[in-house]
Amino acid sequence: MGLLECSDTYWKFAGQCTECGHCTGACDSLTQAEMTLGQIAKAMIEAERTAETREDLRMNIAMNPQLVQAVRGCFFCTSCKNTCFAHNDVCDLIYHARVDFQNLDLIARGDWSSVLVDEEWDIFTAYRAIHGIGYDDLIRHDDGDCEVAFFPGCSLAAYGPELMREIFETVEALGGKTTLVDHCCGSPLKSAGFFDRAEALCDRISDEVAASGAKRVVCVCPGCANAMASTLGRRGVEVEVETLSSYLLAHGFEPKRKELPQTPLYLSKSCQDRDGSYLRDTCELLGVAPDVPKIFHGCCGAGGGVSAFDPNRQAQQADSKMSFAEDGSTVVTMCPTCTYTYAYRLMSAPRDLANKHYTELLFENQFDWDLVFYQLNSMWSGEYGPWLASVLG
Ligand code: SF4
Ligand code: SF4
Repeated sequence: MGLLECSDTYWKFAGQCTECGHCTGACDSLTQAEMTLGQIAKAMIEAERTAETREDLRMNIAMNPQLVQAVRGCFFCTSCKNTCFAHNDVCDLIYHARVDFQNLDLIARGDWSSVLVDEEWDIFTAYRAIHGIGYDDLIRHDDGDCEVAFFPGCSLAAYGPELMREIFETVEALGGKTTLVDHCCGSPLKSAGFFDRAEALCDRISDEVAASGAKRVVCVCPGCANAMASTLGRRGVEVEVETLSSYLLAHGFEPKRKELPQTPLYLSKSCQDRDGSYLRDTCELLGVAPDVPKIFHGCCGAGGGVSAFDPNRQAQQADSKMSFAEDGSTVVTMCPTCTYTYAYRLMSAPRDLANKHYTELLFENQFDWDLVFYQLNSMWSGEYGPWLASVLG
């Protein structure tokens, strides 16, 4: 093997790219870097060609700020791929570049030490432990007679425990015995350049689902659904993957909250909802008119661990998506991490805008973001501060 672990990927990508430039025009980060995706691949190859040692290679990349911007500034939103006539796979390219960045110590430990979600402690499990949020009574992987595996994702499981339980109970009442999958899908690991660890985590989840006997996995986040579909398919496990909206629609769910907000609604599409089916199903589930305003335009700002590299880019992206909603309206998200990201941005830069996950319009329990942000901040001081710094530092 050469100095780069993933050089095959770069050669393949470079061979498929005509450098038409459409991807650059579709992306603020590529525009800032003045690079096409194919030029990222070529720059990685060139950095290796002119290096004799690992340290040479590291310096060649570190001294190329355009390349660093293009690789670290990616949300994995695939907006660029939608403009590429060849459908060149941006995620394959950038995930592999992140692996080489990680191998070369080009991603600082502080950028990922709190999201090693395949270890015992990460920011989500620490939050849950410190604030007494546990679900042992809902985890039934070993029973073997479950119908459904419910996968709420990190943000809902950590920051909306009452809402999570209410949804779980509904899923079970509608579809039979259910087990909870309260793991992360591994997305933060991939963003940090730990691709194999992310896949190993998904394999473990796949084993748990198979052991539970579940015939379907119901995911709240479209990114978790993509990760599970890919893993189960790769491993030949015949378990169906569904989004929560699709599942609730198919099972005749009756909303617990009868009234939608009186404010105008803007439904914000998740970039992980590649074909828009989650958005369509959610519109139908909410009973909103087909012409209800929708917000497309890529990522909410949370994807790809970009916030650790460039917090302003995350804030600008959240502002950009929310800018399509008029003052006095409610932005409705599909992915709970989008809801978290907008809540965080609205706390930092307040606007007359309500921000709801769609399940909050259907169920009684709600997120309490003021409490969540207070609890997230406070756990770094006081009696848990030193412990937290030692396990996540
Ligand atoms: S749009 Fe596709 S072919 Fe054109 S430069 Fe980008 S990756 Fe290459
Ligand atoms: S996936 Fe999104 S953020 Fe990444 S290069 Fe493409 S458009 Fe830019």
